Amino acid sequence: MQRTPAHLVAISCMLIGLMSGSASHAESDFKVTLLGTSATVFKADRFGPSTLIEAGDQKLLFDAGRGVPIRLRQLNVPLGKVDVLFITHYHSDHTVGIPDVWLTGWLSGPFSRRTTPFYVIGPVGAKALMSNLEKAYAADIKIRIEDAKLPPEGIAIVAEEFDKDGLVYEKKGVKVIAFEVDHGPVIKPAYGYRIEYKGRSVVISGDTRYNQNVIKYGTGADVLIHAVGSARPELLATSSRVQRIISRHTTPREAGMVFSQAKPKMAVYTHMSLQGQGKIPEPTIDEVLAETRQTYSGPLVVGEDLMSFEIGDTITVRRYKP
Ligand SMILES: [Zn+2]
Ligand SMILES: [Zn+2]
Repeated sequence: MQRTPAHLVAISCMLIGLMSGSASHAESDFKVTLLGTSATVFKADRFGPSTLIEAGDQKLLFDAGRGVPIRLRQLNVPLGKVDVLFITHYHSDHTVGIPDVWLTGWLSGPFSRRTTPFYVIGPVGAKALMSNLEKAYAADIKIRIEDAKLPPEGIAIVAEEFDKDGLVYEKKGVKVIAFEVDHGPVIKPAYGYRIEYKGRSVVISGDTRYNQNVIKYGTGADVLIHAVGSARPELLATSSRVQRIISRHTTPREAGMVFSQAKPKMAVYTHMSLQGQGKIPEPTIDEVLAETRQTYSGPLVVGEDLMSFEIGDTITVRRYKP
């Protein structure tokens, strides 16, 4: 994983318990782990968008980009233990890992073994996506039921859809509230999520332009996880492709404006849609941070794959250690 001084400056200036590890630190049972922090730009050290939230004994997955099963295995979380998958929108970078989690999670190995239906919640489109995946993989499903005697109920799907802001999941003290965001005029539906547990909250922006609804639902959150898109000015001035991509996302300067108004205990970047082309490199992490600091001076972390945030009286940030 990349280590830059700016990461450390950004983290260490926060009034949080960074990797405190002290014996007196009470472990919280509300934890966020970034499984993948890239977007359509695919990299070995940043997998596709996906975030795991563990609240009590529940494991909730938000989006499933490329590589999710590998990241869950690194955490020793069996695929079969994921209780619910929430989808923000139907761009493929957020969904290509779904068949992998669904199908591989049903197998008989120790990191799989799902025996109850795969539960999916998303905006309108979730039912079509999942029923079409069932059709696409019908041959494999038939073979494994007959040959490996896998339980049919473990590959069954329960898909629920919503079409407006509101509560979409509530179980054992965990509430998940969906809210609409703005991913551009054509990319609809697009939603973010607010997850509440024991009086604390995590907000995931989903893919969005600068959007008031993220501020509304993100206000006072313990952790506000925001997608970001950035390109150097000289590339923005010359590439209509990059102009279009960045116009569908929130720039670091705009994200800083969101953070300044929502005032989360901690702001976190994920979905690093950093664009480069030809001789013009993608913006560096230092540049993303510097641009954010034009509009926001509070706690800020640039997410990395497998970085976790334990939410208690303080928020403890941990980098992945194998
Ligand atoms: Zn995306
Ligand atoms: Zn998107």
